[in-house]
Amino acid sequence: MKKTDERDTMFARANYQPGSDAYKDYYSKNPERKQIDDSFRNRTQLCGEDSMTYNKLNSPIAECAFNFLGDIRNLCEGHISKEKVEANPEIFSKKIKGIAKQYGASVVGITKLKNEHIYSHRGRHEENYGEEINLNHEYAIVFGCEMNKDMINRSPMIAEVIETSKCYVDAAIIGMIISYYIRSLGYDARNHMDGNYLVIPTLIAKDAGLGQIGRNAILTNKDFGSRLRLGVVTTTLSLSEDDEIDFGLDDFCKVCKKCALYCPSQSLSREGKLGFNNKYNWTVNVETCYEKWRYLGTDCGMCISVCPFSQNLESIKNCDSFKKNGNAIQKALNEYKNKFGSRVFIPGNPPWLR
Ligand code: SF4
Ligand code: SF4
Repeated sequence: MKKTDERDTMFARANYQPGSDAYKDYYSKNPERKQIDDSFRNRTQLCGEDSMTYNKLNSPIAECAFNFLGDIRNLCEGHISKEKVEANPEIFSKKIKGIAKQYGASVVGITKLKNEHIYSHRGRHEENYGEEINLNHEYAIVFGCEMNKDMINRSPMIAEVIETSKCYVDAAIIGMIISYYIRSLGYDARNHMDGNYLVIPTLIAKDAGLGQIGRNAILTNKDFGSRLRLGVVTTTLSLSEDDEIDFGLDDFCKVCKKCALYCPSQSLSREGKLGFNNKYNWTVNVETCYEKWRYLGTDCGMCISVCPFSQNLESIKNCDSFKKNGNAIQKALNEYKNKFGSRVFIPGNPPWLR
C-alpha cells in the first residue's frame, strides 16, 4: 500500500506560512490546493477569538493544552541505555501494556510496524519540512485514552475541544513514559504524539486489534466507540503481537449512517464502495471538515458523539458481532432512538465551565 505524505495532511497544509520555503515548495507542486488552503489561513485558529465557540475563560483551557504539547514534543526521542536487559517478548509486552494502563490508557495493543503505517515525508513543521522518514523500528505499541462521554456529547461546543486536548495530553504522557522505559532497557523507542507523528495511529490501532475504522474514518472500539484519543510508541524491542478484530462494523455502518447524516459540513460519504479485502472504503472530505473546525474553533467531534458505539449501549455490549446480523443492528439503533432520539446532544456547558 502507498505511504501517506504528511505534507498533504490538513494540519500540515494549514501551517504553511505565506512566503516561507515550505509554502513556496508545496504550492508549486500542488497549485490546485492553494486557494482553499489560503482561505483556512485567513480564518482564526482553533480556540481563536473570532471562532463561533470562543469564550475568553474557557477557550484558553484547550489552547494551553496544545501549547504544552508543543513544548514537550522534542522529548519524543532520546538517549538509549548501553546496557541491554534481556527478557522474552511476552514478558516485555505484559510490562509495557501494564504501564500504559497504570498511566491511564483504556485500551492497548501491539502490532508489527508496516510500511503503510509510516508517513513518507515530514510536513507539519517548517524546520523539518520535506525530510524523508526512515523509521527502522519493528513493533508499534498503540494505546487509547477514553474521552469523557458527557464532554464529547456536547460536540461541537467548547467542552469537546477541552476534552480532546486533555486526552492528547494523556496519550502524550503515556507514550513518553513507555518510550523512556524501553530506552532505559537498551532498545530504541520513539513516542508519536500530537504534533510529532512519524506514523498514522488509526491504521496501527486497527492492525493491533483495538477496533475497526468506521464511516467516520475514526477508529471505533466496541466498548468506547470513537471516544478514544490514540498514542503510539514504535520500537526495536521484540514484542508479542495482537490480532486484528472484526465485530461487523462494516455491516453496522452500512445501515446506521448517523455520522454522515449529522456531520455539519457534510464531509462524510453517505454511500461506500467495497474496496480491497472486501472491506468498505468510506471517504472523508478533509478540506470541508477542517474548514468547519476553523469556523467553530473546536475540532467539532459530532461524528464521534453521534456514533452508537460511543454511547455504552446495552445492546452493543451484549452482542459479539454485527456481521450479517441485521436484527442486532436494528436492536442497537432502536435502543439509541429510545434513549436519545435521532441524535445525542447535551446543551450547555458542564457546571465547572459555566
Ligand atoms: S469532525 Fe465534524 S465536520 Fe469533521 S467529519 Fe466529523 S462531524 Fe464532520
Ligand atoms: S455513526 Fe454509525 S455509520 Fe458512523 S461510524 Fe458510527 S456506526 Fe458507523
